[in-house]
Amino acid sequence: MAEMTEKTVLAAPAYEVTASKYRPKTFDELAGQEFVVSTIKNSLKSGHIAHAYLLSGPRGGGKTRAARILARSLNCERGLDGGLCTGSEACDNCRTITKGASMDVLEIDGASNNSVNDVRQIKDEVLFPPQAGKYKVYIIDEVHMLSASAFNALLKTIEEPPPYIVFIFATTELHKVPATIKSRCQQFNFRLISVETIQEILKKICAEKGIAAEDDALFWIARESTGSMRDAFTLFDQVVSFSAGSIRSDLIREKLGIIGLEKLNAFAEACASEDRPLAFSLTDEILSSGVAIEQFIIDLAGFFRSLLLLKNGVTRESLLGYRPSLFSEKALETFDSIRLEHALDILLDCYRDIRYSVSPRFELETAVSKLSWLSRWISRPELREAVENTRNLLGKPNLSAFSQQPAVMRQSAAADGRPAQSQNPERSSGDRSLSDEFKRMVAAKDADEGSDEDTPLWDKTLREKKSEPAVNQNQPADGIPPQVERVLSLIPGTIIE
Ligand SMILES: [Zn+2]
Repeated sequence: MAEMTEKTVLAAPAYEVTASKYRPKTFDELAGQEFVVSTIKNSLKSGHIAHAYLLSGPRGGGKTRAARILARSLNCERGLDGGLCTGSEACDNCRTITKGASMDVLEIDGASNNSVNDVRQIKDEVLFPPQAGKYKVYIIDEVHMLSASAFNALLKTIEEPPPYIVFIFATTELHKVPATIKSRCQQFNFRLISVETIQEILKKICAEKGIAAEDDALFWIARESTGSMRDAFTLFDQVVSFSAGSIRSDLIREKLGIIGLEKLNAFAEACASEDRPLAFSLTDEILSSGVAIEQFIIDLAGFFRSLLLLKNGVTRESLLGYRPSLFSEKALETFDSIRLEHALDILLDCYRDIRYSVSPRFELETAVSKLSWLSRWISRPELREAVENTRNLLGKPNLSAFSQQPAVMRQSAAADGRPAQSQNPERSSGDRSLSDEFKRMVAAKDADEGSDEDTPLWDKTLREKKSEPAVNQNQPADGIPPQVERVLSLIPGTIIE
């Protein structure tokens, strides 16, 4: 079996993935974690070695790497200087630890060794002192996966371990580690590695490998890896594999089915000008080019998020994904923050909904349709404000007057067919009674047609009532009264015909 493995290794091409070739070997090479690194180095220099270290932070940030470098530094024959002992001149301890062959550094995966029995085994083993180095180091990865009883068993061991024992715990989920464990560890929080740092590292690697690379393309890789160096290296290797010595944005887009900013800008501009046919045809074009529906939604959501950030004064390229100047002027002019928030809502809802949908494409097209009249969409607070303004303009102190109006009036208003908003306020007011109104009408009719003595007064009034339900003296028979028109003009997106 061992022979076979050896043969397989020998037969494999001399290719090493970037992640393993460029994995940091010293603390100084650990990118983007300067604060943690300087603290660990200081504690090593001063000789204050803790019994237990807890390294937490997002995946791909270098926790396990730091744990190994720490283990090596502790056992390096040349002293605790932060592990500069590398390469062919490395001491024996460093060399065996680097190879993973040391009996003094034991790596345990917390996810698969999470039972109380696994921890008991560790408890028994710690009684044996280290063989070659000064310390026996246990690195437990994903320590939050340990069961509650395993944590309890571990607690006793880390409280009073033999002086030569050091535990290094690593976890992506610090909140799942019990407080009793945390309080007995020296804690280090690793951060997400910034886009700029990742881009710099990739640039250096390109220079070393003699690969030409566009800045934008490396930036894209760095951004896509969301703070994880490991993800960045994996994606970088994938891109290198089809780039033939030259990494270009357009090639990445084509090979990996990614929508470029130009397309997203064009789409947003189609929405800004309410050009629905164009929005639909762009959608079809993008999907036909092999972009998955989910990906399109993610990219669109990312794009509208960037517009929202830009609208709110954020100009950092690493947050926006692109240089601020590359975003569509027209889209930025047309959509304000409220509209952009709504666009994000539409897209995030769409992403959630496609999982249970008859057709993901229908969901997407509905979202596209909604986005194409985004500039006319009104939020509830805006509508409320507009209604308030209407009330103020029409001089009504409170809206409850409307609900107090007599039932007859409300009925006639509904039969009228016009929206309640366009009703004359006097008619819908509650402070004038029906009989008052009636008397007023009769008086008005008398003044107008006083000569018509043949028909009884009540008949005229009745006819008048029939032909013009709920008469309004100030309002023209057709068209919107000027006050209401003014109010309507305050409501964004209202079309006054
Ligand atoms: Zn060494």
